[in-house]
Amino acid sequence: MSEAPALHSRRPLTLRFNIPISKTREFWDSLRAGRFVTTKCTSCGKVSFPPQSDCPECMGSGFEWVDLGRDATLVTFTQVMVAPASFSADGSYTIAIAELGGGVRALAWLEGVRAEDASPGMKLKVEARTSPDGSPYYVFVRA
Ligand SMILES: [Zn+2]
Repeated sequence: MSEAPALHSRRPLTLRFNIPISKTREFWDSLRAGRFVTTKCTSCGKVSFPPQSDCPECMGSGFEWVDLGRDATLVTFTQVMVAPASFSADGSYTIAIAELGGGVRALAWLEGVRAEDASPGMKLKVEARTSPDGSPYYVFVRA
C-alpha cells in the first residue's frame, strides 16, 4: 500500500515568455503610428495576418510590408461573460473576427458596440491603442 507523497505548500507560478520581435517589429512600430500593416510574400503574393516571416503558402522567406488600411467588416463575434484571470477587471467583453483589406482576417476586442447590437457584415474600423505599460495593441470599433 502506497502513501500519498508529501507536498510543499502551493506557490503561485509565473510564466514569462520572450518572443523575438525582430521580424515583426515593423508591425508594432507601424501600429504605434496608427497604421495597420502586415506581410506579403514576394514569391507568391500571399498576404498573411498576423505578419509572417515565412510564407505559409509557399514557404518563401522574402516578404514586403503592405498597409491593410483601417476598414474592416465584422465576420463573427462572441461575448465573454466570465473572463480569464488576466482580464477579470474588465467585466464582460466582446471578441470579434473581422475581414480587412486584402481579405485577411484579424481577431481583436470589439469596443463600444454591445453584443446585441453587433451583426456580421457590420462596418468596423481598426484602432490602434496603447496599454498602460506602453505596448501597442488594436481594437475594432464601429465605423
Ligand atoms: Zn508565398
